[in-house]
Amino acid sequence: MVVEIKIDYSRCVGCKECVKVCSFGVLEWLDDMPVVVDPNSCAFCLDCEKTCPTKAITHKES
Ligand code: SF4
Ligand code: SF4
Repeated sequence: MVVEIKIDYSRCVGCKECVKVCSFGVLEWLDDMPVVVDPNSCAFCLDCEKTCPTKAITHKES
């Protein structure tokens, strides 16, 4: 399973909650924004999606 993680930076308000909630090291806070650094480690738990207040993060399975 390949998981595609997208962050829509036009919606992101920089709250860092997605980085805090991901326990798999997929997301990191770099240069003042959340960045997908290790997509292969994503467990598809969707905690980041549920936590993001602006629905800036989306996942797609392919
Ligand atoms: S779905 Fe879960 S494992 Fe994947 S990036 Fe979001 S919080 Fe991390
Ligand atoms: S939780 Fe959403 S709004 Fe907050 S930093 Fe992550 S992507 Fe941006």
